[in-house]
Amino acid sequence: MSVSETGRILDGRAVAAKVMESLVQRTAALRDTGHQASLDALIVGANQSGSVYAANQAKMCAEVGIEYRLHELPEASTQEDILALIDRLNADDQVTAIMLHLPLPQGVGTELVQSRIDVSKDVEGVNPANIGNVLYGRRSLVPCTALATMTLIESTGIDLPGKLVVCIGASNIVGKPVAVLLMRAEATVVSTNIHTPDIAAHCRQADVIVSAVGKPGLIHGDMVRPGAVVIDVGITRVMDSETGRKRTAGDVDFESVQTVAGWLTPVPGGVGPVTVAMLLRNTVDAAERRISSTR
Ligand code: NAD
Repeated sequence: MSVSETGRILDGRAVAAKVMESLVQRTAALRDTGHQASLDALIVGANQSGSVYAANQAKMCAEVGIEYRLHELPEASTQEDILALIDRLNADDQVTAIMLHLPLPQGVGTELVQSRIDVSKDVEGVNPANIGNVLYGRRSLVPCTALATMTLIESTGIDLPGKLVVCIGASNIVGKPVAVLLMRAEATVVSTNIHTPDIAAHCRQADVIVSAVGKPGLIHGDMVRPGAVVIDVGITRVMDSETGRKRTAGDVDFESVQTVAGWLTPVPGGVGPVTVAMLLRNTVDAAERRISSTR
């Protein structure tokens, strides 16, 4: 492999911008037929990071022509209060997409609440029924970070059948759905977790590495096969020893891996922006499906 074939950056912002462009056209087409794509988000309690995220979401939705409605419940809300709001949104024909900001107050069962979201409106793909549909390859709303990971891998042009992919981390919301999507793409998939011995040996064989752990510096250049695609899903806030300020770090030691990998996502600016774009794409998908199912 020549030097020019290593260290190419997978620019998540550019990939997200392309997706957003196509969404602008799709929401305009919906409006032409008298329909408005919308996203109903639920936030419980005063939660600063959630509020910042919600404000950012509202802005992104406006950019692509999605109407954003934020439903705020007080911190003292009970599980029944939250379920009642979800039931109301599920029953409302004008609501086609629902997302739930986390964390929920102590004592509220997050999984129980997520499971209550109507499968066809669950644009984060957190209802277990949607994960089941992903497994069976049926039409479903797929968790956004897993979709973002697939979109970035596919953007390299790699032909996945016959390729070995090592997934590091196997959570319900990222690692497992990524592994399932890769299986569906007929890659050979190795799913690893905290108990897997010698992850480095698996990685050295891999054509694609997906790291979704949240441990800065976990993946080093000496663990990567020359030319491999490396997708860094990890997000950890760390103190930068040079600037004395907090910054966001991925799982991958960028400098050492960049000299070996064929393609590499940066953090920030890799998986993160594409994940947001996938939430909006799921939102438009849900609106279009609702309309075609009522025709
Ligand atoms: P999680 O804590 O639920 O799961 C972590 C997984 O990593 C587990 O399967 C665990 O067994 C495994 N693990 C832990 N230490 C390990 C080690 N040393 N070696 C191998 N495996 C190990 O986390 P999550 O919710 O899946 O998130 C993972 C990371 O992805 C976090 O940093 C999170 O912030 C980030 N994340 C990013 C996005 C995005 O849009 N970019 C979205 C969701 C999560």
